[in-house]
Amino acid sequence: MSLLEVEDLKVTYGTDDGRVHAVNGVSFTIEDGINYGLAGESGSGKSTAAEAIIGLLPDNAQVDATAVRFDGVDLLELSANERQDILWERIAYIPQSAMDSLDPAMTCSAQIRQAIQKHRLVSKSNARSRAHELFEMVGLDPGRIDDYPHEFSGGMRQRVTIAMALALDPDLIIADEPTTGLDVIVQDKIVDTILDIQAQIDSSLLLITHDIGVIAETCDELSLLYGGKVMEQGSVDNMLINPVNPYTMGLKNSFPTVDETDETPVSIPGSPPDLTEEPASCVFVDRCAFATEECENSHPAFVELPNRNQRSACHHAKKAAQMRHEATDPGT
Ligand code: ATP
Ligand code: MG
Repeated sequence: MSLLEVEDLKVTYGTDDGRVHAVNGVSFTIEDGINYGLAGESGSGKSTAAEAIIGLLPDNAQVDATAVRFDGVDLLELSANERQDILWERIAYIPQSAMDSLDPAMTCSAQIRQAIQKHRLVSKSNARSRAHELFEMVGLDPGRIDDYPHEFSGGMRQRVTIAMALALDPDLIIADEPTTGLDVIVQDKIVDTILDIQAQIDSSLLLITHDIGVIAETCDELSLLYGGKVMEQGSVDNMLINPVNPYTMGLKNSFPTVDETDETPVSIPGSPPDLTEEPASCVFVDRCAFATEECENSHPAFVELPNRNQRSACHHAKKAAQMRHEATDPGT
């Protein structure tokens, strides 16, 4: 069953330089029990898409979508209060830089208690014992629930924000760059903690990151954003082993791999598109090594690859898939 269905989501921001088309026709579906990745480089629209789903966009944003359905209910048709209730009861949101936005003047237990008591009628002592339990779940010493955020390291503060988000046993966890700003070993531990907890509370995950390595470790499916559009989407295994979109291919090459140490990472030349213009061409055209005249004239629709749970927005998707097929199976 589909837990979250995002259909043709568009978000623009009003700015002095014109309207920024931050998310431009994004669609994806998260089935129940799936770990879903939303990836792309800085400015590709990942956080904007998450904030649109949650309903936490700033006032200069304008949202348009066919639907944003959670468990069959269109969130865009709910009042702000109804949506907030769903958000707290069923969707846990760990915003980007969450660990830096903990209240420095409140102990961690008080912040967790507040998060619980705002939405549930529970006594102070029950909320406190829940905070204790949550600290244990995220691998923190429950004896430290009355410490202040500054008494913890960055990785530990991130665990506190995860504990807060999990307070009400959500069905979906949306985590925006939960590992950014942490050193590599701590990043791994945070990823393991999220996966552990998810298994314990049986929730789905929408993981937002620019780090393809983290996606490969944690996610079943992926949408790769560029310039506010989904370039390629589908099974992580298929996309990362046999990408057919030039952007996915470029991104895969621009990250060092753990197992293939002799592969030198190559970054994609050029810079991201100007989002104040509605794109008349493929958004990746200026940086694409395979671009043809067709790519200058229109942004491509999705091409579905048969039996692969993989679709690519590229005018040359079919040809790329055929070439990959011939390379892996030269007998055909
Ligand atoms: P990052 O990896 O850096 O977090 P992102 O993929 O999350 O990037 P967004 O933060 O969603 O990207 O931004 C998408 C685009 O929208 C960018 O061009 C950004 O400058 C623009 N943008 C984001 N927030 C606002 C805002 N409040 N007002 C105007 N433009 C904005
Ligand atoms: Mg972001």
